[in-house]
Amino acid sequence: MARYLGPSCRLCRAAGAKLFLKGDRCNSSKCSIDRRNTKPGTSNNSRKKESEYALQLKEKQKIKRMYGLLEKQFYNYYKKASSKQGITGDNLLQLLERRLDSVVYRLGLAKSRSQARQFVRHGHIKVNGSRVDIPSFLVSKDDVITFDEDLKLATENSKESNLPDWLITGKDGFVVASLPNREAADSNINEQMVVEFYSR
Ligand code: SF4
Repeated sequence: MARYLGPSCRLCRAAGAKLFLKGDRCNSSKCSIDRRNTKPGTSNNSRKKESEYALQLKEKQKIKRMYGLLEKQFYNYYKKASSKQGITGDNLLQLLERRLDSVVYRLGLAKSRSQARQFVRHGHIKVNGSRVDIPSFLVSKDDVITFDEDLKLATENSKESNLPDWLITGKDGFVVASLPNREAADSNINEQMVVEFYSR
């Protein structure tokens, strides 16, 4: 599967927001957004007034990059979300949060979604006792997530982190107690703008 291999911080600067793509660095004084929040290719932060379309496009790009997806994959999630009952924006975020790489990140087993994706691809994660090496695998309610002994260090990360409400620690591993709702996703994203962008 193709993926973006360029500098991560450049994506944040293009979005004008922190996308938390580089683990610890994102919360340190080295974060490019904190140091120099300018668009890539510009030397000052004068941003001219953007059209509604430009803002929607930017928000779509931001969410897509936050979850480490390419356009086709992201659009497929939108199509799936809009074909389901309920609010399309909420459905979209729920699908994105249910991805196994995102779940591993939320559990605090990885410092970024890209590291979580690597853990999944390398076969460190099991769902209901079976190894799953597909980052886009969607978890379901009552799924039990376990991981290799190799991820001992990651377990330490997990202990320090706060688990979201929908993921709990069970007897045999982490359990998907319920499907994620809107609050499970970051509050600084505007999924409605994505819906408006694709509904044009
Ligand atoms: Fe984005 Fe993290 Fe780079 Fe900051 S350090 S610009 S949040 S990827």
